[in-house]
Amino acid sequence: MIGLVLVSHSAALATGLAELVGQMAPAVPVVPAGGDVDGGLGTSADRVADAMAAADRGAGVVVLYDLGSARMAAELALEFAEPELADRTRLVDASFVEGAVAAGAAAAGEQALDQVAAAARTTAAGGPAADGAPAPTAAAQSDGTAAVTERLVLTDPAGLHARPSAAVVRALAGLDATVTVTAGDVVASAASLSALLRLAAPVGTEVLVAGSGRDAALAVPRVVAALSSATGEQVPAETVATRPGVVGAAPGRRSGPLHRPGAAGIEPPAETFAGAATERGRLAAALRQAGDQLVGGGDITEAHRVLLADPELTGAADELIGTGVPAASAWWRVVRRTADQLAASGDAVIAGRAVDVVDVGQRVLGALLGRPVRPEVPAGAVLLADDLAPSLVPELVEAGVVGFVLRAGGVRGHAAVLARAAGVPMVVAAGDTLDAVPDGTPVLVDGGTGEVLVSPDESAAVSTPPARTVPRTTRIRRSDGGELRLSANVGSVADAEAAVAAGAAGVGLVRTELAFTGRSALPDEDEQVEWLSAVLAACPEGPVVVRTVDLGGDKPVPGLRLDPVRHGFLGERGLRLCLARPALFATHLRAVLRAAAMRPIELMFPFVTEPAELAAARSALAAAVASLRADGTAYAEPTAVGIMVEIPTAALRPAPFLPDVDFVSVGSNDLVQYLTAADRTVPEVAAVYRAGEALVPDLVAGLVAAAAPAGVPVAVCGDLAGDPEYAALLRTAGVAELSMAAPLLAGVRAALAD
Ligand code: PEP
Ligand code: MG
Repeated sequence: MIGLVLVSHSAALATGLAELVGQMAPAVPVVPAGGDVDGGLGTSADRVADAMAAADRGAGVVVLYDLGSARMAAELALEFAEPELADRTRLVDASFVEGAVAAGAAAAGEQALDQVAAAARTTAAGGPAADGAPAPTAAAQSDGTAAVTERLVLTDPAGLHARPSAAVVRALAGLDATVTVTAGDVVASAASLSALLRLAAPVGTEVLVAGSGRDAALAVPRVVAALSSATGEQVPAETVATRPGVVGAAPGRRSGPLHRPGAAGIEPPAETFAGAATERGRLAAALRQAGDQLVGGGDITEAHRVLLADPELTGAADELIGTGVPAASAWWRVVRRTADQLAASGDAVIAGRAVDVVDVGQRVLGALLGRPVRPEVPAGAVLLADDLAPSLVPELVEAGVVGFVLRAGGVRGHAAVLARAAGVPMVVAAGDTLDAVPDGTPVLVDGGTGEVLVSPDESAAVSTPPARTVPRTTRIRRSDGGELRLSANVGSVADAEAAVAAGAAGVGLVRTELAFTGRSALPDEDEQVEWLSAVLAACPEGPVVVRTVDLGGDKPVPGLRLDPVRHGFLGERGLRLCLARPALFATHLRAVLRAAAMRPIELMFPFVTEPAELAAARSALAAAVASLRADGTAYAEPTAVGIMVEIPTAALRPAPFLPDVDFVSVGSNDLVQYLTAADRTVPEVAAVYRAGEALVPDLVAGLVAAAAPAGVPVAVCGDLAGDPEYAALLRTAGVAELSMAAPLLAGVRAALAD
């Protein structure tokens, strides 16, 4: 593989560009050589020489530079280099950024040294195949060898988009040929992904593929084949759009027209201008936050990432801010103007990008205004999205979405948890499986098997009734004579009603964070009391376990603007976050205790790592009780206090906690991700995660054995509780309660009914 060296007067520029190329061509060694020896502005031959040695894998190195004197540093470095390395090094005059990207794509396609150098050169002003250069035939024949040409018409509905373009670049791997693809009067090097993309050739375009060089006769048909096999794939009716790795995350079979969410419809409010520096800072922070929200690495997500860094968009917004326009209005004006220009282009492919611009624009606007962006979805639709903020799932279900297909997402992520709770099928980790299926095509989602049937026939398309009308669930007797309660997890009034309908014996988990997520400001004490009282009023009879708020991880709270790393899965989340913000915790505990005045509750602290945290949480609880008593406000203390066991420290060594708890409840969703170091929301590690689930029954059995002498019952409220096979193993392990999404109760009851 050819390596790249990027020589710039600015270390930051070289490093940033290396990162950009690395994103597009991760396997290619790209080494930045920016700045002088002290890291200041300038260049250093020593640095370039080191970078050349580091980038070389034996096949050669292409060196690009930004300004003339950077070339001098590179030439000097070449003089010092080992003769063999010097022989296989090419210094290339090219557009620094575009040349590096083109060379990266060519190197990733395993092209030879001179081809990689040529790919970079095609981007130089006045280069042999610069975009916009006229007529292809001359370029193809200029080296004196016989030119090979072939024409074809693009039949992919999405035109010449990223995937077929990448296939074209790869098709040239190892061949000695210069190939161009021409659409209209624009010619692009077939070795350059970015040049091919800029052709923006829509379906129906006639393209000319022209090649010259020793292997042209081989190369041209390969490029044509790549274009044809990546195109013309109209999705046939009756296709099961499933593939390894795609998994069902919420059971049920429902059908409806496929829908990709469009603009969410947030408009910037009339606001006062807070000064250019402040407004620019706000925009920069919102752009960062919007970038952090993008998950996965699909074509569309990548396009959105690129748009967030688009200097034309940010530069224009910056200019407007300079004239006194507040950040939100400035940003939105630029987004609208750009989207309108694209939509008016008359070219379907380019117009299609308008949707992406508005989508990204809304995301940034949402971040600026502290509001989650809810996609517009017609009732009855199956939603196809990259991933979903968990708080949006209940809202979308309420808006009539009948099924979810997520390109990313994990089976134990909160979006999936909430889809199961709502009884709406969800398939996750679908990648690009459905990307070629047009909006409006009927699809059937089977959230049990992970299958998505495109254009299903009538009989398959019959929607199964919502899973909420299941028979009443009872209490189960364990073989050791103890009782096993089958309870429901609840995060809304609708969930509580579903728990009643499903005959839950109680509620093993109230996820109070759902009062926090999906809103722009933190709920105050009264608002929390109102939310929790409504939920408690709707809960079934039997014990109700309220969990104190579990924020952070994959549950962002717009009102708190949590840093995704510092408050991510391994950061300050759950109880840690509450203990670090005593005012927030005090308000929350007061609200829970006030709501408890209307019906008795048990209280549970999430994400407990150490006994000291439990002690601190108990003191905060005592302080909240004291403050309510001092106020003379009505409240009730919990009838029991417990902890979630969802961190390996607590699962493996429960003894120190037992004297201070009335019960423990195992959060298997988190416990497994921490045991396996496999993020519960990342599809790429879903297999590792799932394999780790097998550890849970033994751990729970150990927990039961440790807790029984202390008279402490063990519950499980993670999703394994709702999996019929695991439910049976957990019963054998001796748990006192399995708490799950209400629609799963019927299946578990059936599995345990022997
Ligand atoms: C768990 O981790 O298993 C759990 C029930 O909590 P949550 O899914 O809300 O993190
Ligand atoms: Mg958890």
